[in-house]
Amino acid sequence: MQTKYLALPGPTSVDNEVLKEMASEVFNHRGKEFSKILANLTAKTQQFLNTKNELHYLTASGTGAMECAIVNSFSKGDKVLALINGAFGQRYADIAKSYGLDVIEFYGKWGQSFDYDKLKETVENINDLAGITVIQGETSTGVVNDLKKISEIKNDKTLLIVDGISSIGAENIDIDGWGIDVVITGSQKVLALPPGLAIICLSKKALEAYRQSDLPKYYWDIGKYKKFTEIGQTPYTPAISLIKAAEKQIEKIANQGMDSEVKRHETIANMVREGIKALGLELFNEKGCRSNVVTPIKPPEGIKVSQIRKLMLDKYKVEVAGGQGKLKESVFRIGHLGNVDPLFVISVLTALEMSLIELGHNVKLGTAVTAAQKALCNSK
Ligand SMILES: *Cc1c(COP(=O)(O)O)cnc(C)c1O
Repeated sequence: MQTKYLALPGPTSVDNEVLKEMASEVFNHRGKEFSKILANLTAKTQQFLNTKNELHYLTASGTGAMECAIVNSFSKGDKVLALINGAFGQRYADIAKSYGLDVIEFYGKWGQSFDYDKLKETVENINDLAGITVIQGETSTGVVNDLKKISEIKNDKTLLIVDGISSIGAENIDIDGWGIDVVITGSQKVLALPPGLAIICLSKKALEAYRQSDLPKYYWDIGKYKKFTEIGQTPYTPAISLIKAAEKQIEKIANQGMDSEVKRHETIANMVREGIKALGLELFNEKGCRSNVVTPIKPPEGIKVSQIRKLMLDKYKVEVAGGQGKLKESVFRIGHLGNVDPLFVISVLTALEMSLIELGHNVKLGTAVTAAQKALCNSK
């Protein structure tokens, strides 16, 4: 039985079958068994992501992979345009600045997509732009940025560095077709694994940039990962138990296929949004760029985010997230990614609706659930 409903934008709940893999005996990461697992895991991940680009598993949280992407792609003084319409966009800019890159910040409004015409003009006016950093699914605001458009705006010499930590597997992405040079993701979000692993995927162009790159790096030096891959290993001791669990989980979703996983998340997200709107609440993310994985919601007049979260957790064991950064008190966020299914959504909406009623919001019992059920029926 589930002890808690994790309705967070990560970490997400993990299948029991996958958890069991973590409990098996620890084994040698310099032995044959590990090599076999790593090779299979890497191939299955490439299959799932539909890419021929080089791919490495890193023992790190998602932010580690962000740093890995930066230090391997650029050289001192390189000009990098950081697209920022939320907290994670800012994090990429901050990491790049901390390595002495010449970071130009391009802002969008939180909760909205970028002004792509303005972006085009900006890009055209920068000489020698080495790279663009962008978050595909901005978890802080529930906005999906349009990677295809951005890839059409940038020129051939500019590397496109994407954070797909909370979006890979739930939003459409064509890594090879759109020419995405570096894309990273983390284990604890859509991939429905425990935290602790990250993936980095690099194009030929990114690897050429790596060869020129003079930024300081040791643990993150991708050349070492490349070299060790040839002998079926990682340069340093990996999170062996997580790798074993990942093999099981990635095999499962690779068999489903990316398209079907995206569709599943789309249906679930739609249920959540329709339920929320029926309750008379306002979504923070604008129509047309709404995320399949997280829904940010403004609380009703007179009710605080902290009250909603506390009641949902204490009384119904449902954990939703608060706002991030400057949105801390002004939105709460429901995460609906990974191993989520329609009945999970129904449970979360029930808990929300009953909590809101107890806090004085005037709606009829069953309002959100009915709307979500309708959304599900209509999606078939
Ligand atoms: C969660 C998240 C991160 C940070 O990941 P950590 O694993 O906490 O380091 C970065 N970017 C995005 C878009 C995220 O959703």
